[in-house]
Amino acid sequence: MKNFVCCLMKNKNLLLINMYQSILVSVLLFCGACSEHGDKVEMKISNYALIDLHLHLDGSLSPEALCEMARISNVNLPTTDLNELRAFMECPEDCESLNDYLECFDFPQQVMQHKDAIEYGVYDLVKRLDKQGLLYAEIRYAPQLHLENGLTQDEVVQASISGLNAALAECDMQAQLILCCMRGDNNDELNKTTVELTKKYLGRGVAACDLAGAEALFKTEKYKSLFDYAASLGVPYTIHAGEADEVSSMQDAISFGTHRIGHGIRSYNDNHTLTLLYDKNITLELCPTSNLQTKAVGSINSMSQYPICEFINRNVKVTVNTDNMTVSNTTLLKEFQKLFKFGVINSEQAEIIVRNSVDAAFLSDDQKKDLLEKCQKIMRR
Ligand SMILES: [Zn+2]
Repeated sequence: MKNFVCCLMKNKNLLLINMYQSILVSVLLFCGACSEHGDKVEMKISNYALIDLHLHLDGSLSPEALCEMARISNVNLPTTDLNELRAFMECPEDCESLNDYLECFDFPQQVMQHKDAIEYGVYDLVKRLDKQGLLYAEIRYAPQLHLENGLTQDEVVQASISGLNAALAECDMQAQLILCCMRGDNNDELNKTTVELTKKYLGRGVAACDLAGAEALFKTEKYKSLFDYAASLGVPYTIHAGEADEVSSMQDAISFGTHRIGHGIRSYNDNHTLTLLYDKNITLELCPTSNLQTKAVGSINSMSQYPICEFINRNVKVTVNTDNMTVSNTTLLKEFQKLFKFGVINSEQAEIIVRNSVDAAFLSDDQKKDLLEKCQKIMRR
């Protein structure tokens, strides 16, 4: 009997300790949502499971990787000083638009015209993501932008898969590739090939295809036949829309049957599009820092105004992503930290976001179940 009481007391103490810990975590997270103080807040936020569904390879190379890839490719960079290189690769403070932002991709594209450099670039990025504590990432790039030295898109994709596999063999995280088609003139055949390569390597390193590039210049509506073709092949896709063009661009993407939209931020105050997103169960891949830098929404100039809760309150599924870690000088953890620091989200909303990321990942149901379990373990720490 004495032992039983002792055991009960012990359990009661444990319960109290657990309760106390839960309250402490909530308080710290709440503090993170309303004030700026403390390493403890950052430590607790880092307990959030990190999943990046919208991450561009060329915008996320480190200056160190760029140097190594330039050496492999025999490309002369204007400097080998890492800080000076970083300045070329980061979005300028006076960035005016998405088109300005895209200029930061010039050097990465120059050094990614050689198989070994592409392989190294993917390898290095996955290793860095693993070090940052990501559980899962979908890394995207456009194979057709890497053909200047005579590579075929197929060779480019093979090189990227080699880099991915080499890194995953040394990492705990999981990652897949998304192959981007490009908005532009006279590249219909190249885009078709990208879709066909997505089909060829689907489930073997490649998860889906995408449409990237200058949205305002090359309208989404032009790409209906491309996504009809992808659908006919059973290729999953996501589409950049509602970043640099109006919500009609998103409505076109939705009419193509996409389940995910890259960005989609412009719909935050558009009742019709919000309803459509909810009805069709579409997930938005939001990228807060990038959206502010490209001035995706003219009236939103600071993180405190970032309208993520406008979506969550309408039960529209949103995820938080980096877009371009180097160009935007960010990491996924930093994105969450900023959202907390500026009081944009609280811990409950962060959990919703993580669940949405798991749900929207280009993974099988079993893989999603495993990923969710990993997320839950981290979030319960
Ligand atoms: Zn993007």
